[in-house]
Amino acid sequence: MAINKFKEPILVTRPLLPNLVDFNQQLQEIWKSQWITNNGNKNKELLENLKQYLSVNHLSLFSNGTLALILGIKSLGLSGEVITTPFTFPATVQALDWCGITPVFCDVEPDTLNLDPSKIEPLITERTSAILGVHVFGNPCDVEAIQNIADKYHLKVVYDAAHAFGVEYKGKPIGQYGDLTMFSFHATKLFNTVEGGAVVFKDRLLTRKLDLLKNFGISGPEKVELSGINAKLNELQAAMGLEVLKLVPEERDKRSHIKRVYEENLQYVPGVRIITKLERQENSYQHFVIEIDEQYFGMTRDQLHEKLKEYNIFTRKYFYPLCSDFSWYQHLPSVKKELLSVAHEKAERVLSLPFYGGLSHEDVQKICDIIKFIQLRQYKVG
Ligand SMILES: *Cc1c(COP(=O)(O)O)cnc(C)c1O
Repeated sequence: MAINKFKEPILVTRPLLPNLVDFNQQLQEIWKSQWITNNGNKNKELLENLKQYLSVNHLSLFSNGTLALILGIKSLGLSGEVITTPFTFPATVQALDWCGITPVFCDVEPDTLNLDPSKIEPLITERTSAILGVHVFGNPCDVEAIQNIADKYHLKVVYDAAHAFGVEYKGKPIGQYGDLTMFSFHATKLFNTVEGGAVVFKDRLLTRKLDLLKNFGISGPEKVELSGINAKLNELQAAMGLEVLKLVPEERDKRSHIKRVYEENLQYVPGVRIITKLERQENSYQHFVIEIDEQYFGMTRDQLHEKLKEYNIFTRKYFYPLCSDFSWYQHLPSVKKELLSVAHEKAERVLSLPFYGGLSHEDVQKICDIIKFIQLRQYKVG
């Protein structure tokens, strides 16, 4: 029995959008104030709401997550080398490039696909200033093991939590680990401000430094204190954030149900492993990712990715290619394939499935049926 393809394309995600009436109310307030950027009332309100939502004391807003990470790294005064993961979005390592820091790639754990703490120590040199971990797909890194290594060698710990908005680890909000953590509020993230981002941090004194860095280093009408850049979140973005944040709990609920439908259907499919199998409070519901084992599934991840397109289902290969494969890093000793064997294996196998609250249970069920059908037919046809 054949299954019909979807009438409309099903993409991997859809942005969480506020009700237009509510957004218009926000806009009316902005128009009335005639203040559209440079730390206006909407910025101040969003800052407070996010501090509360993320349970952190210190937070700074930015025009996007990448600039938040770059300026966060600058504010900590990092230099030399930083140990990081190849299994991430390009922005993580490009932030190091912009700070003149050499990334040192470390292999990942096979189950979480996060930085493998047992492989960090041999990579530490006199030039190492920090460890930069990524909570990939919202799975928290082994933050305790990473902190122990950092303490032993006096290194800073920075996290890219672009996928981990609202995640807790052992009952503690994810932003409370490490010296500094970046969140992205890009349209594709669970919580969005169209484009936007933030860093949360331990040291209160970084607040002023970050405020200067994101506004050209200007500290007064006639005073420029340091060389900064423009990385401010504007008032329209902040207004968007205020409205979208109200929708996050319901969106998380919807995604948790979708996740359950996927899990119930896919957990026993030969050659399929679910990567993002977490408890609710530890889940960001940012992505739903599976791993395809060709030997048992009967086809490769790439073949499945292509096959699903015939049914109008558009999946993504997060994260392929690995950052260590970028042309400009090929002179670095840490990019050698044999040193990053887990990352290389996983990059060939992972597949992000459509995951957003607007997806109906029938649609999710149908996506699962199609995957099962493809897998079964593989064996019938041979
Ligand atoms: C989205 C993302 C970023 C970049 O954030 P922007 O807000 O788009 O600049 C960085 N790291 C990871 C892991 C991401 O997924």
